[in-house]
Amino acid sequence: MTATTTESAKPPQRGFFGHPAGLGPLFFTEFWERVSYYGMRAILLFFMYHQLSEGGLGLDKGLAASLMSIYGASVYMSGVVGGWLADRIFGSRRAVLYGGVLIMMGHLVLSFPSGVGALYVSMLLITLGTGLLKPNVSTMVGGLYTANDPRRDSGFTLFVMGINLGAVLAPLLIGTLGQSVSYHVGFSVAAVGMAIGLVCYFLGRGRLADVGATANNPLTDDERARVYTRIVVGLLILVLAGIVLAMSGALTVELMINAISVLGILLPTSYFVVMLRSEKVTAVERSRVIAYIPLFVASLFFWMIEEQGSVVLADYADHRVDLHLFGLPLLSSWFQTLNPGFIVILAPVFATLWVRLGRRQPSTPVKFSLGLGFAGLSYLLMAVPALLYGPTDKVVPPLWLAASFLIVILGELCLSPVGLSATTKLAPTAFGAQMMSMWFLSDAAAQGISAQIVPLATPQHEVAYFGIVGGITVLLGVALYFLAPAIHRKMEGID
Ligand code: GLU
Ligand code: ASP
Repeated sequence: MTATTTESAKPPQRGFFGHPAGLGPLFFTEFWERVSYYGMRAILLFFMYHQLSEGGLGLDKGLAASLMSIYGASVYMSGVVGGWLADRIFGSRRAVLYGGVLIMMGHLVLSFPSGVGALYVSMLLITLGTGLLKPNVSTMVGGLYTANDPRRDSGFTLFVMGINLGAVLAPLLIGTLGQSVSYHVGFSVAAVGMAIGLVCYFLGRGRLADVGATANNPLTDDERARVYTRIVVGLLILVLAGIVLAMSGALTVELMINAISVLGILLPTSYFVVMLRSEKVTAVERSRVIAYIPLFVASLFFWMIEEQGSVVLADYADHRVDLHLFGLPLLSSWFQTLNPGFIVILAPVFATLWVRLGRRQPSTPVKFSLGLGFAGLSYLLMAVPALLYGPTDKVVPPLWLAASFLIVILGELCLSPVGLSATTKLAPTAFGAQMMSMWFLSDAAAQGISAQIVPLATPQHEVAYFGIVGGITVLLGVALYFLAPAIHRKMEGID
């Protein structure tokens, strides 16, 4: 998916903190897109299950939690489609633009008082839009540098900082307005945020030279007819199946939730089967793909807990936490700022730590096992308050929940950056671009599974819920630690 750029059309090589000038518009586009996404997520759960009299939709709480997870799963699954469209039809440049417009429209749909139908339309628009925007804006960052430019990694670090700075601002701005004025004002500000992102993108277009301007591997004339026919036939079958199911009364939200959960598992499984059986994959590459399987499973369990931060822990903040700190009132959405906030503060500490440790630093599989261990511990910690303060009421000190967010972030900093780079390094040449989608599919599969279990996280069952999910994750982390040397050998020379 790397954008092809000729030397003459390389963007200006200086202009953004010592990085190519084009990093500026991409950084701010993604910053504002994440403000809109995480701002919307900071209030969406409450909007869905709060009563009509409180400005919400009055949905069942378990259903609302499943919808949050399935939405997250769909957003990361649609990246597969967005990557393909950019590679073969639009080029990344236009894909990001179209994606931004769809996202803005998705937030606008919820800006006006409306019902459940509007919610689903908004979810669909934002899923499609994010699938077009998110993978492609990252690919364009890569396209600003030559393959061996030493600034490449630090360019991505800056970009990830942009993502998390956006996620810090989101709950403070949109969460506060959404909870203290009205949810619809919150969603309108999310739309304005995406609009600002689009303006940054448009104004900065000159600094991108021809990065992502055309498809890397455009459809040939022969392929075009065949592929378009398949797409049209596929869509027709989907629409017809939808109509038949709807007419027979079987097209329920529950069916959609279950279908997306199953797809979340089937999609990466079939990718693995195709890669392992492909004749284009050499023996060494096959061994690396096998090594990637346990890492994928670890990543899945990690993101399951991490992404439940905006579902299970958001609900916990709203219903179990004493929303006062040193006598001052707190809003439940503000807890969503902790995850990205800790990342912004601690990422430089971890980067320095790995550099200091140099060759003595843990191998990739060991870092993954640390990631799992911290994620599991963050949940085990949440099993304790019910034992100390009772299982109901808003009595848990806010710092308890903050500590849980801090611990999961220690895991994220062990697993997420190395996960991204291991994904690219373990990719067979013939599957370079698809392998990147696999990384996001581990997050999608995780949220697909979450959709099935999050309704169980009720105050009556919270000790069991946090205890079992946290306990299994810690045990998997320990198992991975002992398997790490064998996995490392299978990685065939990759660290
Ligand atoms: N939280 C990250 C972001 O918003 C994505 C998580 C992932 O890498 O799966 O970009
Ligand atoms: N940590 C998430 C992502 O990197 C952001 C969030 O959940 O707020 O980057």
